[in-house]
Amino acid sequence: MIRSDYSRVDPKRRANLNYKKKQFATAEFQQQQYEHRLNFYELPPTAEITLEEFETWAINRLKVLSELEACTFRNKTPEETAEYMTGILNKYLPLRSNSSSKSQALQDERRKDHYSHFILRLAFSSTEVLRRRFSRLETMLFKLRWLKDDVFERKDFVKGLNLDWDEVGEEEKKEILDKLMAAGGVKKGDEMDWFKVDWERVPELVEQRKVFVRRGKAFVPQREQMSLVVVEFTKRLDNALELTSRALPRLDEDDRLAPILAHLSQSFTAPDSAYSSSDANIDGLNVITANSIDTLSTHFPLCMQNLHQNLRANSHLKHFGRLQYTLFLKGIGLSLEECIVFWRQSFKLITDDKFNKEYKYNVRHSYGDVGGDANRRGRGYTPYSCQKLLTEPLPGPGQAHGCPYRTFTSDNLVALLQRTGINDWDVLKGVKEDVGKQRYHVACNRVFEHAHKREIKRVKDDGSWSATDLDTIVHPNTYFKRSWLLKHVGEGNVGVVGGGDRMEE
Ligand code: SF4
Repeated sequence: MIRSDYSRVDPKRRANLNYKKKQFATAEFQQQQYEHRLNFYELPPTAEITLEEFETWAINRLKVLSELEACTFRNKTPEETAEYMTGILNKYLPLRSNSSSKSQALQDERRKDHYSHFILRLAFSSTEVLRRRFSRLETMLFKLRWLKDDVFERKDFVKGLNLDWDEVGEEEKKEILDKLMAAGGVKKGDEMDWFKVDWERVPELVEQRKVFVRRGKAFVPQREQMSLVVVEFTKRLDNALELTSRALPRLDEDDRLAPILAHLSQSFTAPDSAYSSSDANIDGLNVITANSIDTLSTHFPLCMQNLHQNLRANSHLKHFGRLQYTLFLKGIGLSLEECIVFWRQSFKLITDDKFNKEYKYNVRHSYGDVGGDANRRGRGYTPYSCQKLLTEPLPGPGQAHGCPYRTFTSDNLVALLQRTGINDWDVLKGVKEDVGKQRYHVACNRVFEHAHKREIKRVKDDGSWSATDLDTIVHPNTYFKRSWLLKHVGEGNVGVVGGGDRMEE
């Protein structure tokens, strides 16, 4: 299903292919027609897509699933989740109903939804933990879409599923009507249709005593249809994930996909986001100089505030701390010249000579001013994302790099947060819980939302920022940009956030 102008499959391995198996190569690849907006993802996609589509679509779906998960981590109600997710879904994985359009665009949306689901299935079927997590989030997504679906289209979709349900006949209904109505809380005048299914298929409804059970069959009112469909969706997906996990070793044949899939599954652990150069262009922010860093540092995320505090306290930072901080400063728009001035002034205990010999080169190298390898395009290295900082080896003694939510002990983390002005006990308790469950970036977002709660309320109330402008932060430079803009919103030409986390090198 992948089309590409090049292949990295080892030619030697290809030469060893068994000609007797040639019949497997003659599968017919064809485009599917998507009649419904909802999808049970029973048929794997077979038409061709490019490697770029393969990766971009999967990243888009992953963003949706990560945001859904963040909603549960932050205990959002179903209504709050639905409201928050509307903007995210429209941006990353739109899926309109048949009544809204009949155009090719509709088919393209559904194709992207279909393919991206299957790509992530491949990426997340390798371990039991990943499978469970993927299944839970996909089920949430399905539910969200079900609730937003057009009633008639939904009915049509369910009919096409050929689910093994029996409608309760008039005779039987008459016989047990009182029990059916009492169990389902159905009042006279309500819709009076029931389905009959094996009770194991609706454990939630049985547990909540919402259905009448007789001889192993649960009698489910029509309005509880969603539970039935959702249970079926999860069951089929779980089975399919099991099967996919068994087929995974065969994918080793294609070394174009393996690195992409590995990156996707790593992104599920700590969501990834590449730096966007637009993060350095902030409306209303004057040219940044070495002297403005102290003032701006109040908008830095904890990882960078920690480095800044260490630098000010010791007039020194070790190599990886300097690298992390230099790239961040470069990312917020500090020029190379000003960055050199910043480090020279900060390392005030050493001579000019020592600074020029031992430290200046590395700063220039980070900016791409000198050196080969990653600097060949003259742009140097890109600022580190949360994923990079959350997955790199832990710092050793005397080192301050990395993400403090991960690298600090619980008590030290609380002390650091208090030093930066976070004193609310509920927030600190929430942070401790997040960190205990290794949800480091969730703790960071919790702190951000607390520190900016008044401004966030304001831009939400006046509608100047959308849900996607306030999506989960997964890059330190996004943290800075959003913090600065929120604190200065409404001043002069400051207004719109402009740019979340785009994929740009
Ligand atoms: Fe920095 Fe990301 Fe950690 Fe926040 S979650 S402190 S932005 S690395």
